[in-house]
Amino acid sequence: MSNVLVLVDHSAGTVRKTTAELLTIARRLGEPVAVFIGDGVQDALPALGQYGATKVIALTNPDLSQYLVAPKAEALQQVAAKIEPSAILISSNAEGKEIAARLAVKLDSGLITDAVDVQAGPVTTQSVFAGNFTVQSKITHGTPIITVKPNAATPEAAETSPEVEEFDVTISDAAKTARITDSKPREATGRPELTEAAIIVSGGRGTGGDFGPIEAFADSLGAAVGASRAAVDSGWYPHAYQVGQTGKTVSPQLYVAAGISGAIQHRAGMQTSKTIVAVNKDPEAPIFELVDFGVVGDLHKVLPTATEEVTKRKS
Ligand SMILES: Cc1cc2nc3c(=O)[nH]c(=O)nc-3n(C[C@H](O)[C@H](O)[C@H](O)COP(=O)(O)OP(=O)(O)OC[C@H]3O[C@@H](n4cnc5c(N)ncnc54)[C@H](O)[C@@H]3O)c2cc1C
Repeated sequence: MSNVLVLVDHSAGTVRKTTAELLTIARRLGEPVAVFIGDGVQDALPALGQYGATKVIALTNPDLSQYLVAPKAEALQQVAAKIEPSAILISSNAEGKEIAARLAVKLDSGLITDAVDVQAGPVTTQSVFAGNFTVQSKITHGTPIITVKPNAATPEAAETSPEVEEFDVTISDAAKTARITDSKPREATGRPELTEAAIIVSGGRGTGGDFGPIEAFADSLGAAVGASRAAVDSGWYPHAYQVGQTGKTVSPQLYVAAGISGAIQHRAGMQTSKTIVAVNKDPEAPIFELVDFGVVGDLHKVLPTATEEVTKRKS
């Protein structure tokens, strides 16, 4: 069976859910070989084994953590030259997409970004033009390099006991032109990461600036909080949580839009959500055109009632 490289997305050895999704997808295509960059590979091993990595290639060269993206692309090129994978899967975040693009140039290979599904072939599914078209694509040249959006697959466990292989890479001076001088993790909110969350509750101008009901409902569901641009531009919620064309693109299992009208620029960032629910006091609000369930009402009344009901049913 052919090897499929999966670039592990992690934070100091804590493997993100997106990696479990990539490993699940990789098993449809061949044998998943995880590539782990940085410190903490031993901490990551149980999670990588849980989702079927047959081998873990550890890259610990300090240049990989001290500089921006270019060294990681060079390192993956060297791993690919040795392993000769049949495909390479990378998480579709800003860094992942830049690594993938650089790697595609180096390997003279085709690249597909933002896949929402990958099946044997590999044949990918993408949602394009603000979600108005669904496209299936296949790479026809070189090693298929695919970046996969969060929530593209439900992680399925397949226990393995992968061995760790240390792999030496050589990083060129040309790849060391942008050095990281400082890095601070964002203050943890205790909520899931917006782009990876299975459930998102977003608030808009209709909140009137009070995100309390949004956060309380999100917490009852274990969800992330998002916001429309109108809400973040008003200073009601940090810009990092903006969903839409000029914010984050999300694709959760469930997206709840409360007090959001459904402007095209907002839709562009959430239209591929599996189930969409809106709470809006205006029955004519455009958001109702794309919802699976809609509640016409005041979010300040609807959300606290929903929160109470969810909390009651959980206990
Ligand atoms: C180039 C460009 C890029 C953009 N990028 C983005 C982007 O990335 N993301 C984004 O979101 N927008 C973006 N926008 C802005 C977008 O066009 C809209 O202006 C914005 O999405 C509107 O936000 P909103 O739905 O919260 O506010 P509004 O459109 O004002 O809608 C508020 C909604 O709340 C409802 N409401 C009011 N009170 C209540 C209540 N008590 N209970 C329930 N419902 C209530 C109203 O009926 C209304 O439907 C962009 C615009 C441009 C031009």
